[in-house]
Amino acid sequence: MNRSDLPGLYIHVPFCKTKCPYCDFYSVTDTKRAVQWLSTTLMEASLYREEFPSFDSLYIGGGTPSLLGGPLLEDLLCGLRDIFRFDGGTELTMEVNPDDVTREKLALYRALGVNRISLGVQSFREDEVRFLGRRHSAKQAEEALRLIADEGFAEFGIDLIYGLPGQTLRSWRQTLRKALEHGPSHISCYQLTLEGDTPFSRMSGGGSLKLPADAIQARFSLAASETLSEAGFIHYEVSNFARGLEHLSRHNVKYWQHKPYLGLGPSAHSFRGNRRWWNARCLDEHLLKTGRGEKATGGSERLSADQMRLERLLFGFRTLWGVEMSEISGKDGQKAIDGLLTSRLVELHETRIIPTEKGYLFADGLPVMVSG
Ligand code: SF4
Repeated sequence: MNRSDLPGLYIHVPFCKTKCPYCDFYSVTDTKRAVQWLSTTLMEASLYREEFPSFDSLYIGGGTPSLLGGPLLEDLLCGLRDIFRFDGGTELTMEVNPDDVTREKLALYRALGVNRISLGVQSFREDEVRFLGRRHSAKQAEEALRLIADEGFAEFGIDLIYGLPGQTLRSWRQTLRKALEHGPSHISCYQLTLEGDTPFSRMSGGGSLKLPADAIQARFSLAASETLSEAGFIHYEVSNFARGLEHLSRHNVKYWQHKPYLGLGPSAHSFRGNRRWWNARCLDEHLLKTGRGEKATGGSERLSADQMRLERLLFGFRTLWGVEMSEISGKDGQKAIDGLLTSRLVELHETRIIPTEKGYLFADGLPVMVSG
């Protein structure tokens, strides 16, 4: 098996000290349950040993994985290494919150084999991180980044959020430039959106929160592509930029290329072949089921050939790999592609149709236009 075809492993750490008002990821604030979560997650892992014997990426996300104390993290990684095989060059990413970063923790991460850090900075402006309800300050984020570089992590990413009410293009560009000053290998820029039943969604419903209009959001997005590509970054997915092809997130690329992956922990998703399944968004249910030695699957779907093709279009138009011409069927599909080429939303590279920067802005609409 080609190394890039090996599956990826995702571990969902479902704990946060406090909940950010925009976030719809599953987590609880009762961190005392982490010990129980760890033992049941390892039990869950052992149920997949036959189906997923080896991996070449491990992504510890959440939630807030950096809340896990040293002994818990060590037990988690040792336990996973006892159960599964990890390819020698496995990419091991850990999501980290700036206020959890200390030199000691970073040294421990390195000793445990973590070779990539994803830091949730969101903004380098104090008023913006406060608005987002983050526990850290912009100053703490800068200090965390200095420590990460000092500790010799060559691979680290910075997560940012744009499209805040009242945010200006000037302040967004300042945040981007500040991010670049710290020398990351990867930057993710997420548009602030209203998700599920979050405080921000409720505020928006009640009229007390208004996000910028789509046209303004598009300008923020283009400002990110401009600033980051001037600095040599490759815009390889709608929200993701890397300092070169060797710095892409190997783990996340698997999601966009229909590669197999296994997700463990409440709310985690898995995929193999044409089947997708997911765990319930409930720590109690996860603990109960895995504690009984059962898989914690909350739902599943088997994708038809048409659904697989539609997903290839959806992912393709969101990434620099684009879509193979042969995926476009019928006269209507071909006509739609001609229109997209004329409007410069896509470009033709040999047999692949690749989205342009402008095309990324319409990434979700393109598959519908060409699916025939
Ligand atoms: S954004 Fe991160 S820290 Fe905030 S609630 Fe969501 S998972 Fe927790």
